[in-house]
Parts: sequence; structure tokens; C-alpha cells
Amino acid sequence: MTINRAAFRGLAARGAARVLGETDNMLVNTKDILLEAQQQKKAVAAFNVTNLETVQAAVSAAEQENRPVIIALGERYFPTVDVEGFSAMVRAIAAKAAVPVALHLDHAYEKQSIVRAIRCGFTSVMFDGSKHALERNMALTRDIVEIAHMAGVSVEAEIGSVARGAFSDEEEGDGRLTDPEDAKRFVAETGVDFLAAAIGTVHGMYTGEPRIDLELLTRIRDAVRVPLVLHGGSGTPDEIIAEAVSRGICKVNVNTEVSIAAVAELLRFAAKPDAARSHLSTVMAEVQEAIQPVMRKFVKLLA
Ligand SMILES: [Zn+2]
Repeated sequence: MTINRAAFRGLAARGAARVLGETDNMLVNTKDILLEAQQQKKAVAAFNVTNLETVQAAVSAAEQENRPVIIALGERYFPTVDVEGFSAMVRAIAAKAAVPVALHLDHAYEKQSIVRAIRCGFTSVMFDGSKHALERNMALTRDIVEIAHMAGVSVEAEIGSVARGAFSDEEEGDGRLTDPEDAKRFVAETGVDFLAAAIGTVHGMYTGEPRIDLELLTRIRDAVRVPLVLHGGSGTPDEIIAEAVSRGICKVNVNTEVSIAAVAELLRFAAKPDAARSHLSTVMAEVQEAIQPVMRKFVKLLA
């Protein structure tokens, strides 16, 4: 009797999905919503958030526009955020959400962080090997792709290097733009699911005039098939973001602009005469209310 190996592969994949809880419809695979966005020539907002109120604001903003949303947590927040607790919270909120919600590990440099995120149910991970030379970045990324794909988790990687502007807590990048030929080779040799391309945006807010190379973006889009990711959405002029989406960007990362709005609201609140008597729940509710329109602006812009 011949064994139908294809059927067994299907069983194994469903087993992995069950371990990850993907059959319960609580979270969606990031790759699925990005491929859909790519077909529609739209993009999905990925909000870097770290707590209950900011997750709630992101999901509400997406619901208001009836768009999917990606909740992202960077490795740099692991020391202060309970990763497993955060994942459980996002799943519970996603289960009640009216729109698809994905959970993404942003900028991870350590294999250990990637495995930890996969184990607790993240639906995609970003391995950032951009500080390494191309060959080394490819070898490291390929290894991560192999592990993540076994667990049914999709992978983002970066080539070129996004520089750091103001108000950002990201690693300093050297601002090297992505070479389209390198991008083509990188995707083919690593099997990565989506690619962060450096086209001149910065992490955080711009300190001068943004110099974003949309022509380069078109060349990268023509060289690779996978959805492209724009890091450094904050402070980028709306018309440039919209143009970037029309040229193949399917995921836009937003962190700093939301953080600035939240801190501004905290300061405004603190300046009120009776602020010291306020309850923390009231302060946090005000912050949530203040950042939701900022998030909604991005969701709407990408649709
Ligand atoms: Zn980034």
C-alpha cells in the first residue's frame, strides 16, 4: 500500500495550527491579510503597542474603518512587557473584534525572542538582520524562516537599513537604501513572506525634509513578488504614504506618532488643576480616546 504523504503533511500542518490556536479564529495569519491587501492595492496598519489601552484603541480604529489590523510588539519591549500575557490579551480582544487581527513580533534580533513569540501564538515575526552584510543577513534569515514556517508563522525581514529620526527608541540604522537586485536575491534565497525595504523613511519623526525614493520603491516592487513593508510611517506626509501604497507597500508600521499623541495627552491631563486627585483608570481612558483618531487616520489612509 502506498502512503499518501500529502495527506500526512496536511495533518501535520493542521496539528501545528491547532497548537497555535489558529483554528479558533482568534487571530489571523499576517501573511493572509497582507496578500489580500496586495491584491486590493491597499495596506494594513501595524501598530506598535505595549498595553491594554493601546491595543483596544488600535482594534477600535480598525473596526471603525472596517479594515484588518496588525498588533505589533518589538523585541525591545520584552524586558518590560510580559510577552505571553500580552499575546493572551491580544487573542482575547481579537476574538471579539469585528475585523481580522494579526499579532506580529517587530524588529527581533535574537532567535530566542522569535521562538518565544512563536510559542505563545504570534502569527508573524520580523527578523532584523539589516546590520549584517547581505550574505550573513540571508543565512540568518533563512534559518528563522525554516523554524517559523514549521510552526505556520510568517516572516518579515529587512534589507537596507532604516535610519533613526527624532522621538524613536529603535536601533540606529545607517540609512542604506535597498538595492532591487539584492531584494530579488534575498527573497528567492530566504523564502521570506514579506520584506521591509529601506526607501528613505526613518524610525520616529523626521528631523529635516523627508527624502523618500518612490522610484526606488517601484523598482523593488517590480523585482520581488512578496508584499512590501514600510517602516517609519510616523510623520511621513499622507500623500507620500498613499503613493507608496499604490506602488506596492502592503504594511505600514506606526509607532512614534501614536506615542507622541499619548504623551501629549498625559501632559495635558497633568496640567489640569485637580490632576493629582484623578484615578489612573480615568487618565488611561483619556489616553486611549486621544490616540484612537491618530490610529484611525492611518487605517483610513491605507485603505
Ligand atoms: Zn521598524
